[in-house]
Amino acid sequence: MTITELYKHYLAHPIICTDTRKIEVGCLFFALKGDNFNANTFAKQALEKGAAFVVIDNAEYQLSAKYILVDDALTTLQELAKHHRKQLNIPVIGLTGSNGKTTTKELINSVLSCKFKTLATKGNLNNHIGVPLTLLEIGQDIEVAIIEMGANHQKEIEMLSEICQPTYGLITNIGKAHMEGFGGVEGIKKGKGELYDYLQNHNGIVFLNGDSLALTEMATQRSFKETVYYGTSNLCKTRGELTENDPYLKLKWTNGENNYEVASQLTGIYNFENILAAIAIGLKFGLSAQEINKGVENYAPQNNRSQIIKTTKNTVIGDYYNANPSSMALAVENISRLNAPKKVLILGEMFEVGETTAEEHLIILQKALSFNFDQVILIGEEFKKLSLNPGALYFESTALAYDYLKKHPITDTLVLVKGSRVMKLESLMELL
Ligand code: ATP
Ligand code: MG
Repeated sequence: MTITELYKHYLAHPIICTDTRKIEVGCLFFALKGDNFNANTFAKQALEKGAAFVVIDNAEYQLSAKYILVDDALTTLQELAKHHRKQLNIPVIGLTGSNGKTTTKELINSVLSCKFKTLATKGNLNNHIGVPLTLLEIGQDIEVAIIEMGANHQKEIEMLSEICQPTYGLITNIGKAHMEGFGGVEGIKKGKGELYDYLQNHNGIVFLNGDSLALTEMATQRSFKETVYYGTSNLCKTRGELTENDPYLKLKWTNGENNYEVASQLTGIYNFENILAAIAIGLKFGLSAQEINKGVENYAPQNNRSQIIKTTKNTVIGDYYNANPSSMALAVENISRLNAPKKVLILGEMFEVGETTAEEHLIILQKALSFNFDQVILIGEEFKKLSLNPGALYFESTALAYDYLKKHPITDTLVLVKGSRVMKLESLMELL
């Protein structure tokens, strides 16, 4: 079946499902393969549960005309999404970067939705499956789409950009995330730069953090239809200044003519640039300062990314959604600047760091010890290897740290909990 023919099916049944546990009646079911399963085997079940058609890639499972046989279900999903995107005459903002993609995406969405009917990536559905699924959610009523694109190796952003065809692009920053797959910082620049390449070749507009040397260097190596700078320097069209961070961020900003002030529900100095990016985009899309401020003020993280959680015992900065050397260092610096009678760090191992993992864990340890926190608790094998260094408590696993904290409760303290998702640091929350 050609993509145009399949597209007709999609237009008649514009809900896509890939999981038989979440079938919606009348959907188009794509039988994708996972590491441990082959959804071709679920196609029959999907139809029984109400799917209108199933897209499969193994002829053995084809039982009726409701089975659409293709060469590869995943590639077909991607091609369909690309085809759909082509039909849409709307601006698409594509976002990538090492850190802060989801937060910035949510902020942009919160801002732009004060004026437009928007659609943004849900949660973190930012990969080769999530991006096409997000695009296929864009209905005729949507005026702007904001698409998060994640990557942990070269050519991934190129592929995702080809699918979502952004007209505007933003690389949040270049940091030490997924170093392993990209091959170091230069590899990250190259990999993320694929978004700039796409925008250069397709007449796109770039939102650029003027404070980032790495990004400005990457951008000036290319030429774009337009580059919209944001940052702290006078060269930036949208200029901002952090005025408060205790624990919530407040900032002053200007569009070059008037000055405004906005109070966010975010903590962490690193969120300053995320907020400024959303302001710059709001301005470019013609929103008033009031609309922009409302959008920023309305956004409260609910997703364990720098979330302030006031428990009965402590105030916790819950940042256990993920961690890498850049975001970990910034989170430690951030809590060091906040006012609290007692401060404790609970840091979990950073995964996917690659060759330099021992070195990066040592850097974090040294940073953590440099601020005189009341206690530093380090969890995971990489940290445990450093346990000859005095000044911190080391636990090989989250379970062992749990046992310790149960016997030695923390109270009346500002606690930063941050680590890679695999560490499951959320399990400590019931003790805090
Ligand atoms: P993922 O790669 O998992 O999709 P992401 O890029 O979407 O991550 P977020 O989920 O927005 O990033 O944020 C995750 C964490 O990264 C935050 O809780 C914070 O610790 C850190 N972070 C957020 N913004 C920045 C930034 N601009 N610079 C550095 N670190 C940041
Ligand atoms: Mg994300």
